[in-house]
Amino acid sequence: MKNLIEDLDVITPRETEACETFQVSKDQNTGKARKLYIESYGCQMNYSDSEIVASILQKEGFDTTSDILQADVVFLNTCSIREKAEQTVRHRLHHINGLKKQKPEMLVGVLGCMAERLKAKFLEEEKIVDLVAGPDAYRDLPALIGQVDEGEKAINTFLSREETYADISPVRLNSNGVTAFVSIMRGCDNMCSFCVVPFTRGRERSRDPQSILAEAQDLFDRGYREVTLLGQNVDSYKWSPENNNKAWIEKRGTNDVITFAELLDRVARVSPDLRIRFSTSHPKDITDDVLHTMARHENICKNIHLPIQSGNTRVLNLMHRDYSREWYLEKVKSIRRILGEDCGLSSDMIAGFCSETEEEHQDTLTLMDAVQYDFAYMFYYSERPGTPAAKKYPDDIPLAVKTRRLNEIITKQRAHSLQRNLRDVGKVHKVLIEGFSKKSEDFLQGRNTANKVIVFPREQYQKGQYVQVLVEECTGGTLIGRAAQ
Ligand code: SAM
Ligand code: SF4
Repeated sequence: MKNLIEDLDVITPRETEACETFQVSKDQNTGKARKLYIESYGCQMNYSDSEIVASILQKEGFDTTSDILQADVVFLNTCSIREKAEQTVRHRLHHINGLKKQKPEMLVGVLGCMAERLKAKFLEEEKIVDLVAGPDAYRDLPALIGQVDEGEKAINTFLSREETYADISPVRLNSNGVTAFVSIMRGCDNMCSFCVVPFTRGRERSRDPQSILAEAQDLFDRGYREVTLLGQNVDSYKWSPENNNKAWIEKRGTNDVITFAELLDRVARVSPDLRIRFSTSHPKDITDDVLHTMARHENICKNIHLPIQSGNTRVLNLMHRDYSREWYLEKVKSIRRILGEDCGLSSDMIAGFCSETEEEHQDTLTLMDAVQYDFAYMFYYSERPGTPAAKKYPDDIPLAVKTRRLNEIITKQRAHSLQRNLRDVGKVHKVLIEGFSKKSEDFLQGRNTANKVIVFPREQYQKGQYVQVLVEECTGGTLIGRAAQ
C-alpha cells in the first residue's frame, strides 16, 4: 500500500495555502474574433468572478485561451488579502511586460481586489497596465476595452451597493463537469480588523434566490452533481424583494426575508442527487436553523468551514471577530450534537497577530486540540494598508516569531488531519467521482460528504457517478480504498 500511496502522489497533505494558488482560463474556440486570457489569483470568489468576466466578454466577441501568447486581452484577476499575494501579481506583470514588448497591441488589464485597493495608482506604478477594473465594474469591461482600443487608459473602481451579477450565466473556465461554484452574495460588512475585503469588495448584498435556483437547476440538467454556494460570509445571506443590501434590510426591517437556512433548503430540493456545499461560514452568523437544515437533507454535505483565526479571546476581540473562545467551542458542540462527530470541520488561522503573546498563541494550539479540525488554511499575519488593525495596532511580532508560531500550528494540524482521516479507515463512504486521480488513469478520485478526497481503483466507474467506497488506508490528505458495491 505504501507504494500505491507514493505512486498516486497522495503522500503530501492538501495545500495549506490555497489562497496562493492561481487558475488560468481554458481554451474555447467558437470562432470569435478576439482571444481573452485570464489568470485568477486568491480565493474561489475570484475564480468565480473570472467566469462572469468571460461570460460578459463572450457576448462581445471574445473566446478564452489558456495560452497567453495567443491573447489579444490579458487580465489578471488579483487578490490583496496578504502582501505576498500582491507581490506575486507584481512579479507576473513584470514578466508580462517582456511579452508585451514582442506584442505591443496586447491589452493588459488588472481586475479584482488589488485593482480596487490601488485604483489609478496602479496605472501610475505599472506602466504596462492599460485597464483597471474593480470587482463591481465587470459589466463595464466592454466599454473600458473600447476606451483602450481608442488609445486611452481605462479605469472603473466604483463599488456598488446592489450588483450581484445575478442575471449572468458564468462560462465555466476550469470545470471538471461535475462540481461548480455558485456565487450567492458579494461584499462583506464585518470589518474584521486584519482584513482588506470590506474595502476591496464593498458592502454585503445577496443574490436573488430565483436566479441561484435557476443556475443550480441548469447545472444539474447539464450533468453537474455538486454546487458550492459561495460568499465571504454565506450565513449572513439575506434577500428581500424590496432590497438585496443587508444593511438596508437590517435598518428598515421587513418580514419578507429569505435567510441562508431557507435558501439552503430550496437549493437542496433541486434534486436529491445534487450535492450542496457552502463556504465561508462566519462563526457568529451560522445558526442552529442552518445546522438543522443540513441535518434534514442528505444531499447537503456534512462539512463546515468555520474559521477561528485565533484561540484567544483577547486576540479575537482585537480582531473584531465578535465571538470568544468559549462561545466558539459551544458552537462546535452544537455542530457535533446536530450533525455528529463525522461532520467535517475546517478553519482558517492567523499566527502572530499584533501583540499576540506566547501564551495567547498556545491558546490557538489548545483550541485546535479541543476541536480537532479535519483541515485548515494557516497564515501568518500580514498587515494590510488601510485596515483597522493597520491604523490602530503596531505589527509588532517579528517575522521569525510569526513563522515559528505558524509552523507549530501547521505541525499540529497535520497530526489532527491524519488522526481525523484514520477514523474514516474501515468505513464505507459515499463518493461523488470528480475524475482521474492526479497520477494515474487507473484510479478515480472524488470526495465524501465531509469534503475528504478519496482515491480508488477505476474499474467500471465514471466521472459524475456516486459510488460507495470502503476506505482501507489514508495519509493526512487523502483516503484510499476500493468500491464496496
Ligand atoms: N470571509 C472569510 C471568513 O471570515 O472566514 C475569510 C475570507 S479571507 C479571504 C480568508 C482568510 O484569509 C481569513 O479567514 C484569514 O484567515 C486570512 N486573512 C485575511 N486577512 C489576513 C491578513 N491580513 N493576514 C493574514 N491572513 C489574513
Ligand atoms: Fe474579511 Fe472578516 Fe469579512 Fe471574512 S468576515 S471577509 S475575514 S472582514
